[in-house]
Amino acid sequence: MPELPDVETFKRYLDATSLRQRISGVDVESAYVLKRVSARELVHRLKGRCFESSRRHGKHLFVRVDGDIWLRLHFGMTGSLRYFQRNEQAPRHARVLFIFSNAHCLAFEDQRKFGEVGLVKDVDEFLRKRALGPDALDVSLSQFREIFEKHRGAVKAILLNQKLIAGIGNIYADEILFRVRIHPAAEISRLGDKAVRKLFRATHYILCKAIAANADADQMPKSWLLPHRGKGGKCPRCGRKLRSAKIGGRTAWFCAHCQRKLS
Ligand SMILES: [Zn+2]
Repeated sequence: MPELPDVETFKRYLDATSLRQRISGVDVESAYVLKRVSARELVHRLKGRCFESSRRHGKHLFVRVDGDIWLRLHFGMTGSLRYFQRNEQAPRHARVLFIFSNAHCLAFEDQRKFGEVGLVKDVDEFLRKRALGPDALDVSLSQFREIFEKHRGAVKAILLNQKLIAGIGNIYADEILFRVRIHPAAEISRLGDKAVRKLFRATHYILCKAIAANADADQMPKSWLLPHRGKGGKCPRCGRKLRSAKIGGRTAWFCAHCQRKLS
């Protein structure tokens, strides 16, 4: 499921391939992913225009279309982007195709169709309406501290809550907690200030490293949890079997030996 590092990688890909090219058409292969916009309106608003720049917030990507509108992309469970030549076969799960006048296309692919494509007039207003928290890479230490002081519950549930901090999902929440050796179910009221500061630094570190690795699990350090998570996986620190549990509605992977519950 695409999280902040994946969406940042899509942003860089889009910036490198699809800006400043005239959009000659838009093919909506599945209107299911369109949110609050019809296929007709989408075509009408984009045709003849260019993508100018992009902006990411949490797991959302916004692409500025010359004029006064933004294309909004959310990648759901299986969304991604692919730029290809028009005479090549379109990706199998392409849901929306942006066709450029240079005979290339950008596909919004999404096998499971939980992704979203929409239009937004004002990005900041959209973020306010959705009540999304600050982006996980923009959040300051004092904001981070305040979030942890004001809330109660399992630390992982806080990291996953997009209304508190936007961008962290199941995989990277586990990775961050593995790095700081805190159990995902640890109650946040038991975290001292030192642990919160460590968590803050680890959040930045893990997300930035993952972006540098193009969010590709095969390029992640072997000392991380990610290459080992799953049935039969072993802790890269102590070699013991990794455990899983449902925490905050998602399956957490962790090492019961290395990660403290603080209780
Ligand atoms: Zn361990």
